[in-house]
Amino acid sequence: MKLFYDDRQARHAPERELHNGEFVPYAENIERPRSIVAAMADWQPVRDFGMAPLLAVHDADYLAFLERAWDGWQAAGRKGDAIGYSFPVVRRRPLKFARIDADIGAYSFDASTPIAAGTWESAYWSAQCALTALDRLKVGDRHAFALCRPPGHHASHDYMGGYCYLNNAAIAARQAEALGLGPVAILDVDYHHGNGTQDIFYEDDSVFFASIHADPLTDYPFYWGHADERGEGAGEGTTLNLPLPRGTDGAAYRPALDTALGAIVDWGARCLIVSFGADTHSNDPISSFKLERPDYVEMAASIAALGLPTLVVMEGGYAVGDLGLNVAAFLSGF
Ligand SMILES: [Zn+2]
Repeated sequence: MKLFYDDRQARHAPERELHNGEFVPYAENIERPRSIVAAMADWQPVRDFGMAPLLAVHDADYLAFLERAWDGWQAAGRKGDAIGYSFPVVRRRPLKFARIDADIGAYSFDASTPIAAGTWESAYWSAQCALTALDRLKVGDRHAFALCRPPGHHASHDYMGGYCYLNNAAIAARQAEALGLGPVAILDVDYHHGNGTQDIFYEDDSVFFASIHADPLTDYPFYWGHADERGEGAGEGTTLNLPLPRGTDGAAYRPALDTALGAIVDWGARCLIVSFGADTHSNDPISSFKLERPDYVEMAASIAALGLPTLVVMEGGYAVGDLGLNVAAFLSGF
């Protein structure tokens, strides 16, 4: 399996985030990709597919905001990372604000997604990383891995959140359709629900989205990922949410994975994108599942048994000491 990563993805380095009422060091730090790169050999260069694939998923004004937000923050004379303090929970509409603070709040749903000097550059190359890996499926590879960092599954067409700015999996899914690889299913096995991905495809029957995650009644992102969310309109029935309780181990996880894989087969997917987060691991500092490294090998083997061309994109995982080996274990299962 070919592996893809670009060093420019490490330029995004916010100092801190607001978590449980305290400013704490940013968990989605550059030690994460370093740990994964160090655990495997033969990384391939990332190509530039330009803005068009990003615009196929994201709102043009949102992309323009991401690109200029750091400059706007500096022009306002601010110190530290750009972070919002006011969030419009109702009647959000595209006003032309004269304050960077209003833009940040309008385009985010939490305070854990600061913008720093290298954020746009890293997010851009993270998306290109997914597109480059996807291109391997077009030329006949069965599997490819994109070390996307920053991750993407909490970002939607016009908002950021949860360390995510551009939705790499969704961008790859749209590109896969454009390349004639569809119908595409996205399987999200990060600890947290992939709310951004769900929102992008919620009323769309062209992409099937299945997510296995911690019950949002107890865990971030709280407002999405409940079992009764199944898609709407044309997309009704093409979203599958499988929330699991805190403390879930490998044995308890497996039936949910079987359910998700069965649904993907029944729906008729021809191409699979896996949003892989290693924050389901027992040592993860911000999560509560109890999966162990051998569970990742088994998970991947079950996914590979579907026989679908599969792109794996990296999402979360914060146990930096274990992260590289956990990702390598998962990929070895293919
Ligand atoms: Zn996560």
